[in-house]
Amino acid sequence: MADTTKSKSLFEKAKQFIPGGVNSPVRAFRAVGGNPIFMQKAKGAFLYDEDGNEYVDLINSWGPMILGHAHPIVEEAVKSALSGSPSFGAPTAREVEMAELICSILPSVERVRMVNSGTEATMSAIRVARGFTGRDKIIKMEGCYHGHGDSFLIAAGSGALTFGTPDSPGVTKGTAQDTLIAPFNNLKAIEHIIDQNKNQIAAIILEPVVGNMGTVLPQPGYLEGLRKICDKHGVVLIFDEVMTGFRLALGGAQQRYNVRPDMTTMGKIIGGGLPVGAYGGKKEIMDHVSPVGPVYQAGTLSGNPLAMAAGLAMLKYLKANPAVYTNIDKQTTTLVDGLNGQIKKAGLNYSINAVGSMFTLFFNDQHVIDFDTAKTSDTQTFAKYFQAMLAQGIYMAPSQYEAMFISNSVDDAIVNRILESSEKAFAQLKV
Ligand SMILES: *Cc1c(COP(=O)(O)O)cnc(C)c1O
Repeated sequence: MADTTKSKSLFEKAKQFIPGGVNSPVRAFRAVGGNPIFMQKAKGAFLYDEDGNEYVDLINSWGPMILGHAHPIVEEAVKSALSGSPSFGAPTAREVEMAELICSILPSVERVRMVNSGTEATMSAIRVARGFTGRDKIIKMEGCYHGHGDSFLIAAGSGALTFGTPDSPGVTKGTAQDTLIAPFNNLKAIEHIIDQNKNQIAAIILEPVVGNMGTVLPQPGYLEGLRKICDKHGVVLIFDEVMTGFRLALGGAQQRYNVRPDMTTMGKIIGGGLPVGAYGGKKEIMDHVSPVGPVYQAGTLSGNPLAMAAGLAMLKYLKANPAVYTNIDKQTTTLVDGLNGQIKKAGLNYSINAVGSMFTLFFNDQHVIDFDTAKTSDTQTFAKYFQAMLAQGIYMAPSQYEAMFISNSVDDAIVNRILESSEKAFAQLKV
C-alpha cells in the first residue's frame, strides 16, 4: 500500500475551510470510501500525488486532457499568452480564431459564444432556446448531467446520482416544474410529453452519448428520432457535447452519429485544462443573443486569453493530427476487450459500455441503456474494485456512475499495466 500521509493531513485541514474538503463533490471519494488523493503534478498519462506516488490517470481531469497532462503545445501557448496579460475585458484576436475554428469543425455551429464553464454553456443555451421559441419548458433525460444550473438539477447524473439527492434543495418548485424528464433512449416518452405540452416545449437537451450516469450509448435511430420530433414540433434540439465534443471525433458525437443539433454546448477539451465553456448553433437562433438580440448573457472573463490560448493549441493539434483519434480509440478497444476477457474468466457477468475513448465498467449484469438500468449496479463491489486498483496505482473515476477516458499518452505498455492490475483486483473481489 502506498503511503498517502500528506493527502490525509491535507484533507483534514481542507475540511476545516472548504465544504467537505473539496471544490467539487465527487472528488471527496464518498462513493468509494477512503481519503481523496491530493495531486501535485502530472505528465502524460501519469499523476503524482503529494506523497510522490505515481498513478495511471483514467480521468484526465474528467475529459479535457485528451493529449495527456502538461502537453508542451498547450504549455507553450499559455506561457506566451500570459506574458501579454491574462485578461483585458476587451475583444482579442484569439477569440476570433477560436470561434472560426469551432465553426469550421462543427457544421451545425454558425455562431458561437465563449463562456467559462460547461454549466454556464448549458444555462445560456436554454435561455436562448426559450427566447427564440417564446416557450418556457425544456425536456431533459433522466441521468443526464448538464452542470449545476437550477433547471438541470432534476434527475441529474453522476454527483447527484452518487449522493442520492437527484433533486437538490435550493432549486425552487417554480424552476423544477419547467423541466420535464424523459428516460434516455425512449422516443415514445418524448412524444407523449410533447403531446401533453403542446407548443410549450422550447428545447430538448441531452448528452448524445451519456457520460454522466456512466457511459450510455444512444440506441440506433434514437438521435435521428429526436431530430425528427424536434423538426416536427419546432423544438430546439440541444446536444450537450461538453464531454463528447472533440473526443468521440474531432466533430464530437454529432459527427460520429451524423445527426445535426440546432445548438451545441461545449467545454472541457476546448479549454485545454483551463476553465472554459461555449455554446453555439444556427445563426437564426444565436442572433437572439445580446447585443445583436434581446437574450442577455455576458461574462467578465469570457474569452479569457489564457483559456483561449490553451484551447486553441489543443484544437489545432487535434485538427492537424487525426491519428490521435485512431490511437485513443484503439487503446480503449484493447483495454475494454481485455477487461471483458477478465470478467468472463472470473465467471462474472458485468457489462462494459464503450465508444471511442470513453468507457464504463458497470458492476451490473444488465446491458445499461438508461438511468433505470444504470442504477441497479452493485456500487459496493465497484468500490472494492476501485480501491484495489488505486492501491496498485490506477486512478479510476471514484464513482460507478462516471465515464473514464483514455488519453493520447496511453500506449500498449500502459494498457497492459492497467489490465494486470485489474486481473489482481478481480481476484481480490472473490476473497
Ligand atoms: C462536465 C459537464 C458539464 C458541466 O461542465 P462544468 O465545466 O463542470 O460546469 C455539463 N455537461 C456535461 C455533459 C458535462 O460532462
